[in-house]
Amino acid sequence: MKQVVIVRYCEIHLKGKNRGYFEKVFLENLEKALRGIRHEIHRPSGRYIVDGFDEGCAEEIAARLSKVFGTHSVSVAEQVPADMEEIYAAVLRIAPAEGTFKVQTNRADKHFPLDSMQMNAAVGGRLLSDRPQLRVDVRAPQHVLSVDIREDGTALVFSSLIKGAGGMPVGTAGKGMLLLSGGIDSPVAGYMIAKRGMVLEGVHFHSYPYTNMQAREKVEELARILAGYTGGMRLHVVSVTHIQEEIHRRCPDEMMITLLRRFMMRIAERIGNEAGAQCIVTGESLGQVASQTVEGMTSSNAVVERFPVLRPLVGFDKTEIIERARAIGTYETSVLPFEDCCTVFLPKHPLIRPDLAKVEKAEAQLDVEALIAEALAGAETVTFGG
Ligand code: ATP
Ligand code: MG
Repeated sequence: MKQVVIVRYCEIHLKGKNRGYFEKVFLENLEKALRGIRHEIHRPSGRYIVDGFDEGCAEEIAARLSKVFGTHSVSVAEQVPADMEEIYAAVLRIAPAEGTFKVQTNRADKHFPLDSMQMNAAVGGRLLSDRPQLRVDVRAPQHVLSVDIREDGTALVFSSLIKGAGGMPVGTAGKGMLLLSGGIDSPVAGYMIAKRGMVLEGVHFHSYPYTNMQAREKVEELARILAGYTGGMRLHVVSVTHIQEEIHRRCPDEMMITLLRRFMMRIAERIGNEAGAQCIVTGESLGQVASQTVEGMTSSNAVVERFPVLRPLVGFDKTEIIERARAIGTYETSVLPFEDCCTVFLPKHPLIRPDLAKVEKAEAQLDVEALIAEALAGAETVTFGG
């Protein structure tokens, strides 16, 4: 018995002239996801077929490929000669003992003696007599038994259908700098943007020694999880300890978060310019905490020179974000109790609606350029996967 894995893709077919490019990037991403497993990927028509792997690897391959953005669904199939007896024997191996089913034939090889409808009836009829506990339901069957008769003289027989991650292949929508804290929100924001095809580089700010090494390890773990979806991710780790100390010393307490956010934006854009990125991505959601107001966003947008700031979670409730964090596997890590920099020097009453002119006036007490240069000089870069 020979097993293969079928990969169907999503919106790529919508892309007209760019289709070739999207498919090329998607194929590269599939290859990356299978690194370390012997395999071959073929592209007969409208989907990808993986074979040439060792026995027992099909499930792992299917699981990995279902996570690649752009994948619509994945099936593990049996490949048999396109012969009625061989096909039926394969159907018997995957058919359930009871419940409702339908047979769904797809015939690419028009020379096959039966057409799709005849094939459905023939296979379904035999199955009904061999498995008396089964019933046909063409509208809403519990099991769909698919028979794909290919042009190369083989047939694929399968019933499994694993839902894919959806979205667009990473690498088809530019590059963004993800402000990655250790919290729940920013990994979800990164996931959503990567799903639209964007390559991400993370930027994490810490206040070591006010924050500990565990906080950093937690963020590295989040980056590792995201890299599992994107095929790899670089993370820039930047200390803002001196910046926070200077703000604390020279500016009104309640402006700490507002001013720090402006530093984060500037530093992210500068690293992004070097990295060939085109935008900044944050996990902000309107009204979620005191600093996430439209005035707060105005204040931080004002220092970004060229990049748009994407905030994919802006209209999400916390409960919706938590649900997604659980689904993508970042939640458990995000809730580990290690502080990132924002909680150090946290003011009792942060500014809710910062006035840009006042913020700029307070910031004039700082040597902004020197502080940024110092932070950039100490930045470290870690790479995950890819
Ligand atoms: P999160 O759950 O992502 O930490 P949050 O609800 O804690 O978000 P804030 O602390 O206001 O919200 O942060 C808003 C956004 O600013 C974060 O989603 C993240 O994109 C960015 N950010 C905050 N702190 C850091 C940090 N230490 N390093 C990098 N980015 C940060
Ligand atoms: Mg946070």
